[in-house]
Amino acid sequence: MTQQTITLIGGGLVGALLAQLLAKRGFAVKVFEKRPDPRREGFVGGRSINLALAERGLQALRTAGLADDVLQRAVMMRGRMVHPLQGVSGLQRYGVDDSEVIWSVSRGGLNMLLLDAAEAAGVTFHFGQGLAAADLDTQRITLVDETGTQRQHEAAVLVGADGAGSALRAAMNDYMPLGQRVEPLGHGYKELEIPPATGASHFAVEPHALHIWPRGGYMCIALPNTEGSFTVTLFLPAHGPHPSFDTLPDAAAASEFFRQDFSDLLPLIPNFAEDYDQHPVGSLSTLYLDRWHIDGRALLIGDAAHAIVPFHGQGMNCGFEDTVVLANLLAEAGRDTANAFSEFQRIRKPNADAIAAMALENYIEMRDSVADPRYLAKRELGARLAERAPHYFMARYRMVTFTHLPYAYAYDRGRAQDVLLDQLLRDSSDVENVPLDAAVSALRATLPPLPPLR
Ligand code: FAD
Repeated sequence: MTQQTITLIGGGLVGALLAQLLAKRGFAVKVFEKRPDPRREGFVGGRSINLALAERGLQALRTAGLADDVLQRAVMMRGRMVHPLQGVSGLQRYGVDDSEVIWSVSRGGLNMLLLDAAEAAGVTFHFGQGLAAADLDTQRITLVDETGTQRQHEAAVLVGADGAGSALRAAMNDYMPLGQRVEPLGHGYKELEIPPATGASHFAVEPHALHIWPRGGYMCIALPNTEGSFTVTLFLPAHGPHPSFDTLPDAAAASEFFRQDFSDLLPLIPNFAEDYDQHPVGSLSTLYLDRWHIDGRALLIGDAAHAIVPFHGQGMNCGFEDTVVLANLLAEAGRDTANAFSEFQRIRKPNADAIAAMALENYIEMRDSVADPRYLAKRELGARLAERAPHYFMARYRMVTFTHLPYAYAYDRGRAQDVLLDQLLRDSSDVENVPLDAAVSALRATLPPLPPLR
């Protein structure tokens, strides 16, 4: 039987990983990527220079045989280092030990590693070829290069991994409405850099942490890079009263704001003015679709299907989880791609919706609650319950970040646990006043045990 061909649009993080997994399962895979080959022309960044890789993403990389290679180029982050406006910075560990950590990886480095692996598995890449149009009746696509030259290509089975602004999604939506809804967050982001330090440690602040400067309605975060620098991201309302990107249009205005609100961070960013004036303000939205596919002809995956805000550090992780599910379904389905695509949507969409909601909630948690006494009390009581009754209580962050429990399960379970914590802390926000034996009994009486972890 001839090899079935799958045409992927987009060779970013999700497209490159999916391409390798499909090639390893016997498909002929062609990838059309708008940008030039980053391994030859350098990575055209544009968005977050580094990302947090967590268990779900790692598991997909294990499936691809790439986890060790990626981890060798990653910086371990053991927890959140919270830098309050006043007072002392402190590390809130993610897990009890180093088995529960997340990893800071370079977006460009990871993309290039995935491209190498996909090519080694037999994938054909066509760089500098952006999708301009897709005719789903004739099953032909039109590609355009940087000179504007167009060419046509046959594509009976199309998968769009072309990111939040997906051109394939637009073509599919024109052909048959997908029920698209884009909800802007109303907050934007700007990247700044803490360069490597000159002392014995190459790092100006603790390297093994995700740093957060929570300030209520806005925040800065910083993730380490292997060579000692940190990528800092300022998240701020896009418009409206001070502080917003409207009221802080340039470095002159922003440095005064940083002197007031991020006084310990500003001295670590020597090129503040340059960074602030040169780096664009990125926008953040959540994308919801009712349908991710058009029978067996075209499917969306990763950000193209479900772009989310970045506050749970799960967009790529979720997209990587998608790739394994889809590759397995396609391998099982043989030529019945329509069935594989509809199964993919059935399995993944509730999970994408759940992580979209949790990512939005996490913005409030990160910028505000990590410094809030009631949040800290709930967190502490949750930790005590998890220690006493590990089969009944697990923090939602932990379910999302360190397990493979479906996102939708983590969302529902997290909500139920939260209701219980609120009840237990109804009369007092002091954890010491909560009788732990009674709390454990209430937990066991209210919730079923957690499912076994793989
Ligand atoms: P993309 O990475 O956007 O890749 C799409 C690819 O398609 C690109 O290579 C693009 O050039 C190509 N393309 C676009 N249009 C066309 C076209 N017309 N034709 C051909 N090719 C095309 N996720 C995490 O898991 N952890 C994090 O810590 C994290 N931090 C983030 C921080 C920020 C500020 C942002 C904005 C996002 C963050 N994310 C994070 C989310 C993560 O970046 C995305 O979920 C991930 O990049 C999605 O991968 P993708 O391959 O689906 O899309």
